[in-house]
Amino acid sequence: MIQQSDGVPHDATPMEDVRLSDPGARLPLPDTVELGRINWVYAVPIATIHLLALAAVVPWLFSWTGLILMIVGVHVFGQGINICYHRQLTHRSFQTPRWLEHAFVLIALCCLQDTPARWVATHRYHHQASDEQPDPHSPLVHFLWAHVGWLVAHNAGTQSIAAYQKYAKDILNDPFYMRLAKNPYLALYIYAAHAALFFLAGFALGWATGGSAAAGLQFGLSLLVWGVIVRTVVVWHITWSVNSLTHLFGYRNYDTDENSTNNWFVALLTVGEGWHNNHHHDAASASNQHRWWEFDISYYEIKVLGWLGLARNIVPPRAKRMAAAQARRAAAAP
Ligand SMILES: [Zn+2]
Ligand SMILES: [Zn+2]
Repeated sequence: MIQQSDGVPHDATPMEDVRLSDPGARLPLPDTVELGRINWVYAVPIATIHLLALAAVVPWLFSWTGLILMIVGVHVFGQGINICYHRQLTHRSFQTPRWLEHAFVLIALCCLQDTPARWVATHRYHHQASDEQPDPHSPLVHFLWAHVGWLVAHNAGTQSIAAYQKYAKDILNDPFYMRLAKNPYLALYIYAAHAALFFLAGFALGWATGGSAAAGLQFGLSLLVWGVIVRTVVVWHITWSVNSLTHLFGYRNYDTDENSTNNWFVALLTVGEGWHNNHHHDAASASNQHRWWEFDISYYEIKVLGWLGLARNIVPPRAKRMAAAQARRAAAAP
């Protein structure tokens, strides 16, 4: 059943697959974008890492360990974005001890996807103006704009300390996040350090087991190429698919005032983030699972953190929040 964003059901074909945007329709770029001004701090790493990932076609640089590290890493590092940047920091749908939050942020930084302040500010801005002209990455401008273009064009609306102060003030209150926001190169250094760690660990292990420096070099490089470079590119495109695909293709449970969709393919890749129409309907909830088969693995992981005593104040779905508020009002009534 399709519901309006206020949760009121109305008649519609259930689970209808729809393509919501008119292919001919085009939204103008946000006013604050300067197309001629390239955001080199993002453009250079994005282009470089994509080019380096081509090394994966060289058989000498392949190892099964590297491949396994890539597959496991897509989940582990990707969750730094899904669980920490998105659900924990942007929407405050659960809390963890500060040391664990910082550890999650370090994992997210290894995805080379922005500092916490800019990621959070951009995403809150997206929720405020989804699929309207100020939206930083609406695919109604163009699919490629939403997927990657918005990252390499300077947008004064989302790329300034003033914007972070407006949309992510709570994030900047943390000195670690403020430091990262003031010095974007720090995020690059952290990324480079973790890449070096992968290489050096592989080099040492390869030398110890293979008996030569050449064996160490081959194994170290395989971990670097597959475990870091290829994994980074895969996680990028998975995250970017939420911005591009799930505002174009899929079905809608709720008649929200933008084009967000639930897309099973993206949901599979992002372990739950692809139920994006559910998320736009109830962004505060820690769970995107609104039907039994809309599996949200990310939410299950947050629940596990809760059982371990590492997550608290996990925000329940809107219906449960409303029922609890109603119960509180009834209890308080004379
Ligand atoms: Zn969205
Ligand atoms: Zn969101």
